[in-house]
Amino acid sequence: MSKLLPTSTAGSLPKPSWLAEPEKLWSPWKLQGNELIDGKQDALRVSLQSQELAGVDIVSDGEQTRQHFVTTFIEHLSGVDFENRKTVKIRDRYDASVPTVVGPVSRQKPVFVEDAKFLRSQTKQPIKWALPGPMTMIDTLYDDHYKSREKLAWEFAKILNQEAKELEAAGVDIIQFDEPAFNVFFDEVNDWGIACLERAIEGLKCETAVHICYGYGIKANTDWKKTLGSEWRQYEEVFPKLQKSKIDIISLECHNSHVPVELLELIRGKKVMVGAIDVATDEIETPEEVAETLRTVLKYVDADKLYPCTNCGMAPLSRNVANAKLDALSAGAAIVRKELEAGA
Ligand SMILES: [Zn+2]
Repeated sequence: MSKLLPTSTAGSLPKPSWLAEPEKLWSPWKLQGNELIDGKQDALRVSLQSQELAGVDIVSDGEQTRQHFVTTFIEHLSGVDFENRKTVKIRDRYDASVPTVVGPVSRQKPVFVEDAKFLRSQTKQPIKWALPGPMTMIDTLYDDHYKSREKLAWEFAKILNQEAKELEAAGVDIIQFDEPAFNVFFDEVNDWGIACLERAIEGLKCETAVHICYGYGIKANTDWKKTLGSEWRQYEEVFPKLQKSKIDIISLECHNSHVPVELLELIRGKKVMVGAIDVATDEIETPEEVAETLRTVLKYVDADKLYPCTNCGMAPLSRNVANAKLDALSAGAAIVRKELEAGA
């Protein structure tokens, strides 16, 4: 992008209360059939308008058409049995009832491509589309077929690549893979996780991003964060290899986080979507707080590669809080943009 410090969100935004119960993950739909199809499109329009009114530069669908950032994609694949559920520990952190892989996994038809075409038809802004990353997908399933996390991840990478190519053709400018699992399984990330991600982006001409965070502001995550000590150095384990990877953009958590900011030096040269908005609190950042986070980060990220963003998705927040946070993000980025332009 030619504009300095283009803003975006990590992905999800709150859904309207007529579509799904607000401030809740995995909230069931309140509509059915054609009403649900129309309702999802209307929610996408509202979400897009909120972003545009707040002055967000790179817009998304706000993930209005999906219940969850991982399971909705998996639901569309064959080889996964959603009736046959097992309880597993997700990201070594919390128990969840998940579907079972019972046979070869494949994508029979596009998952989000129609939604992406619709978003493309509604805006002239650059658009970013989020998909789950292969490692985070295998971590949200019980595998009774491949019996190998690595093998299953490779299969998902091939499927994600098919979807990503069609999203690119639909006019998506940036395809983002959400990989919170990269913050937990370091050996696997370095052994095959990053390679799988590169398989998922093979042949793409649009830009690609990986989002690695400490999760939504839900209790299981905030409890886990309390165990991580005063310095969160997880990024240190995976950044060196990511720096050398073919991924263009790294999206990470920063504001109010215990991540030592100097770790960003490890990915110098990459574009960085920096979380300048905390999604784990209802407190609204002031534009000056956002600006201060960005100024600090500028010591480690070149100005033309800095993309102000949110720490993670905002689906569990209220719409008022989320909108106010988007305003703060834009206003904070504008302060620093002005400073950079004055100094240039
Ligand atoms: Zn996140």
